Amino acid sequence: MSFSSTVKNELCRLENVNDCCLLSEVTAALCFSGLVATAAGGGHNIRITTENAAFARRIYSSIKKLCGINPEVAIRKSKKLKKHASYMLFITPCIGSEKLMKQAGVTIEDEKSPMLVIADKSILKRQCCTKAFLRGAFLAGGSISDPEKTYHLELTSRTSAQANELKRILGLFKLRARIIQRKGSFVTYLKEGENIVDFLNIAGAHNALMELENVRILKDMRNNVNRIVNCETANLGKTIDASIRQVENIKYIAENIGFDKLNPGLKEIASLRMEYSDASLVELGQMLSPPLGKSGVNHRLRKLDMIAEKHREEKL
Ligand SMILES: [Zn+2]
Repeated sequence: MSFSSTVKNELCRLENVNDCCLLSEVTAALCFSGLVATAAGGGHNIRITTENAAFARRIYSSIKKLCGINPEVAIRKSKKLKKHASYMLFITPCIGSEKLMKQAGVTIEDEKSPMLVIADKSILKRQCCTKAFLRGAFLAGGSISDPEKTYHLELTSRTSAQANELKRILGLFKLRARIIQRKGSFVTYLKEGENIVDFLNIAGAHNALMELENVRILKDMRNNVNRIVNCETANLGKTIDASIRQVENIKYIAENIGFDKLNPGLKEIASLRMEYSDASLVELGQMLSPPLGKSGVNHRLRKLDMIAEKHREEKL
């Protein structure tokens, strides 16, 4: 199951939700999954469509409980993708579409448009209801990426006004969303793990939140380990290259100049380097008497490099 479905199913299982908040979810379902058309005999036909069975059930029972309306239900199976089904709730004037619109605080965007928009902002006055509205918007038109891959959560709207309204509401919870236009719809989206964790908390998906946090921790650890390993490998590479160069130069000195020509300090480090080609500068320094720090050892080895290089140049 995709992470999106996991989150949605968890949200649909939320119990002990206040009636005011259940109504707010219905408002969101109407705004983000609803279409409206003028009915032949006057009034309006409303259709709510979703691919999530649990959400269809939840909205159905909320409409029944809060408005005393029994929507008609239809399921449409896609012929191409047998797994996908659309669940549709129909509310005709006879069933009580005007009552539902009034109670859910929605109206028709304009007479030519089939969209429903919020008309009565008092629906979102309480914070509990604002959270429920975001939950509804996510259930109706949202998706979340698998956190193993990337951090991305989006809410799809059909008008830019709706997308901006969602952005504003997210802003009330200090979530900074951005909007892009995609194939005729408007997408309000969040990036970054922390924002998405906050959103899941607001919506009430606490299990999914824990799952995401675990993935984040593991990802962080993996990144840190990789960084350290890469860093150590790079350093090791440099150390080995330097050691090979030093050993070559020391051999050159021994064969072409003679250790006798070196001062005692250089002679000592030269023979130690020949013997311990794998040792780090710090380790070499500790073998000296008296011991010498890393930069002191480095200084002497560079001196040996210079002696060898100078001699080679003079020979040319
Ligand atoms: Zn509420």
